[in-house]
Amino acid sequence: GVAERVVNIGSRILVFVRLRPMSKKEKEAGSRCCVRIVNKKEVYLTEFANENDYLRLKRLRGRHFTFDASFSDSTSQQEVYSTTTAELVEAVLQGRNGSVFCYGATGAGKTYTMLGTMENPGVMVLAIKDLFTKIRQRSCDGNHVVHLSYLEVYNETVRDLLSPGRPLVLREDKQQVLTQYRAYSTDEVMALLQRGNQNRTTEPTRANETSSRSHAILQVVVEYRVKDASMNIVNRVGKLSLIDLAGSERALATDQRTVRSIEGANINRSLLALSSCINALVEGKKHIPYRNSKLTQLLKDSLGGACNTAMIANISPCNLSFGQPEANEELHQAPE
Ligand code: ADP
Ligand code: MG
Repeated sequence: GVAERVVNIGSRILVFVRLRPMSKKEKEAGSRCCVRIVNKKEVYLTEFANENDYLRLKRLRGRHFTFDASFSDSTSQQEVYSTTTAELVEAVLQGRNGSVFCYGATGAGKTYTMLGTMENPGVMVLAIKDLFTKIRQRSCDGNHVVHLSYLEVYNETVRDLLSPGRPLVLREDKQQVLTQYRAYSTDEVMALLQRGNQNRTTEPTRANETSSRSHAILQVVVEYRVKDASMNIVNRVGKLSLIDLAGSERALATDQRTVRSIEGANINRSLLALSSCINALVEGKKHIPYRNSKLTQLLKDSLGGACNTAMIANISPCNLSFGQPEANEELHQAPE
């Protein structure tokens, strides 16, 4: 059954890719689609926008990328949720932590995947809806309590998106005092998250590209009581972290060839630290450098160890945004 499957999955990191549809504007600009979904697991980049892009790509070993699953531009929000996150929600109800990330360039579909719209709610909303359904199915004694926190990491400052205004100081020894809502209906959750999302930091220099440098983190904590083998009542806690990451175009600064040309202030420390932590986990290292950034400190108990991790790489189909796939590759493949 489901429980056995969850016990068997162990600690792992799954990587998915989701292609977004071409926008009206992109179509009007005459752009072509440069991504082909070869099969469920393989994605192929087929066209070059110009000579520069071609030269940049020649350095890569190949133009095939493999994933645990790929989602074409017609994949529903529900299917993305079911494939990437449903098992993690089940695991949270077994007292296990997990995290799901959306990674990709600005405009690639991260916020659409995580938050979605009223008509097409995304992973965050579907996860909470599913969680409540599962809780209702398994108990009528009301012994589950669900708390939500919605945070932003911007410029290495943590803010509470549900009651913005004050920066939060992270301390390892102390539980954070955040606005935690007892959550009830899907509509309420959607309204709450949309309100939170509007509180995300807008970049002053690029006013219409909102929040491309900020990470939004929804943490869902489920507390419940169960009877253990000797019939004692014990408290269990499971935590799910759902993260809409900052735009990965900044992560290109990890490339030694470009690092000199980018101002230090523009390098997103949390994104770099996350990729270091994931690389260290993938390589099986003992020391995971969680302390290097605010984002990784927040995710310390939700990444590695017995936790499940899903990474969704969002990509644009448009040849005009070509040149970003190397950023996706970086997170997907362990370095040499
Ligand atoms: P990001 O958060 O990565 O910067 P967005 O999620 O804001 O990107 O997506 C950019 C635009 O594309 C938005 O208008 C969004 O609604 C649209 N979009 C993204 N992914 C999809 C999708 N799978 N289906 C339909 N529209 C999408
Ligand atoms: Mg976004």
